[in-house]
Amino acid sequence: MRVIESLLIDGQWSAGGHERQADVFNPATGELIARLGLASSADLDRALAAAQRGFQAWRKVSAYERSKVLRRAADLVRERSDEIAALITLEQGKPLAEAKMEAFGAGDHIDWYAEEGRRAYGRVIPPRARGVRQVVLREPIGPVAAFSPWNFPVSQLVRKIAGALAAGCSIIAKGPEESPSSCIELCRAFQDAGVPPGVLNLVFGVPAEVSDYLIRSEVIRKVSFTGSVPVGRALGALAGRYLKRCTLELGGHAPFIVCDDVDVEAVAALGAGLKFRNGGQICASPTRFYVQDAVHDQFVAAFCRAGAGLKMGDGQDPSSQLGPLANPRRVAAIQEYVDDALAVGAQLALGGQRGEGEGFFYPATVLTGVPENARVMSEEPFGPIASIVRFSTLEEVIDKANSLPFGLAAFAFTRSIQRATLLADELESGMVSINHFGLAAPETPFGGVKDSGYGSEGGSEGLDAYFTTKFVSQVG
Ligand code: NAD
Repeated sequence: MRVIESLLIDGQWSAGGHERQADVFNPATGELIARLGLASSADLDRALAAAQRGFQAWRKVSAYERSKVLRRAADLVRERSDEIAALITLEQGKPLAEAKMEAFGAGDHIDWYAEEGRRAYGRVIPPRARGVRQVVLREPIGPVAAFSPWNFPVSQLVRKIAGALAAGCSIIAKGPEESPSSCIELCRAFQDAGVPPGVLNLVFGVPAEVSDYLIRSEVIRKVSFTGSVPVGRALGALAGRYLKRCTLELGGHAPFIVCDDVDVEAVAALGAGLKFRNGGQICASPTRFYVQDAVHDQFVAAFCRAGAGLKMGDGQDPSSQLGPLANPRRVAAIQEYVDDALAVGAQLALGGQRGEGEGFFYPATVLTGVPENARVMSEEPFGPIASIVRFSTLEEVIDKANSLPFGLAAFAFTRSIQRATLLADELESGMVSINHFGLAAPETPFGGVKDSGYGSEGGSEGLDAYFTTKFVSQVG
């Protein structure tokens, strides 16, 4: 069985000590396709020492030179995007067209940080006395420990790497063990573009062991994690104990509010497209569809038509629109959510039963009349289930939308400017997208409130997270 050379430490690739390995599967067939070398604590020590040296060198490189290296990396990622996309699909399952968007789009994220890093201005504060200069400098925070998940192996990781490197930080990234190869190729592009040894290090391992080891280390000054709320809470607590700055991008349970004044067919088609993208395994995926009484039935019918029309199959087949889920845990979890919702009184309008055969497939599923005590209404489903519920007044739906501890993304559709403004103001959410899907561009902040996270990735906020502030007061 092929062992993937998975660790990049101090500019050298290796498969680790071969003491421990993880299995990598093709989710479309369930077949074991490779083994992944996992980092030992000795590997992590080497990565920490390399990141420390890398930081001391990289912070002295001018923002202008760093930007040139990052732009080269962006070009290489775009040139190699077909190969990177094929690896995303092979190990994570999403349809090839979605994987291509993810791989090609990574270049955009790198370009954005390359540009923004050159504009990391400080400021000058007028002094109280003549002859005093007061300057605020932004300095790179130091070596970063970053943890990225399997659902977007490239686009989750690239924001952390590009943000850290643009600011002048070094980074040790732990990629997702279930879909490692596209992360490896992403890091290879940075390396080939001229990122010096030790500045970018990539490891895979037993997640809890690696995060515990790195966050406790004196070398690490900043932690960035994308994943579930419980893990984020644990890593945030550890980072707090060691006073490490922290960015957490966690789960969501996005409301999708449809008012009775919209083009129902168009909104239902858009909603189904968003819902079933990447099999619903997206933190900003719409999960609770609240539809106003007068258009509820028409919306359900149009939404089910769109869901039923999706061709489910191996993501490597260009005609597939709904790939397998990333792992068997998701298939089991989705079946449990469906069974539980039906047991408490929901109706099944589409799907709801995993098929026979190989691979981790689950069909597009629509539940209607879902009671609030169904688990799927309060736990993040992270799969291809849409729960559709009626509402009458805007006040009622705002209360429902805000009733969960999550607050990542929210979507609302209306032709009324008053309603749109009220929803934008009242929804407790880090991101609100009205009358379209307008999230996740490199130049816009991406992050949640409440349990959905802490801080933002993307936008100038994303770069800010890698700087500290130094105030210099000088006479003469
Ligand atoms: P999980 O909670 O075990 O893992 C989520 C991610 O965190 C994985 O990438 C995992 O490798 C990593 N992880 C787990 N424990 C860790 C630790 N102690 N230190 C560092 N990293 C750690 O669950 P799972 O079954 O892999 O995924 C299911 C849930 O995770 C979903 O329901 C969803 O809520 C969440 N998730 C969210 C995102 C996101 O984009 N915010 C991405 C993937 C998964």
